[in-house]
Amino acid sequence: MSRFLRKILGLSESETYRLSRVRIKKEVVEGILEASRNVHPREFIGLLRAERGMITEIVFAPASVYGQGLSQFCPHMLPFDFSIVGSIHSHPSGSSMPSAEDLNSMFNFGFIHIIAVFPYHGFQSLYAYDKKGKPIQLEIVE
Ligand SMILES: [Zn+2]
Repeated sequence: MSRFLRKILGLSESETYRLSRVRIKKEVVEGILEASRNVHPREFIGLLRAERGMITEIVFAPASVYGQGLSQFCPHMLPFDFSIVGSIHSHPSGSSMPSAEDLNSMFNFGFIHIIAVFPYHGFQSLYAYDKKGKPIQLEIVE
């Protein structure tokens, strides 16, 4: 992980590279759940922006495709923006586990990936992972 990224995520130099806990603004959680409900049964996909160690915004990815079980986006079309730290997508199937395709595609970009699981009710519908698919705990900040 680069120094720059550690700074955005609010990690000090001495902290380990493995993320175990990430803070996220409550309104971002609500936005994710609402967007996921709105496009259901299609899959919602977006990017996550962080500032001062907290996820503060959903960025709608350019050239994203909302499909049934297949979301694609083009990393080379993303804005040149170092505050983007990862991705969010929904699983209309209700599965909380990243798929092999998730791990091989969008998880390669960024460091934290959130999956919103149908029926998108509340914080417990969100699961966060690092790029290897290891769980990350989300801490909601009002
Ligand atoms: Zn997925």
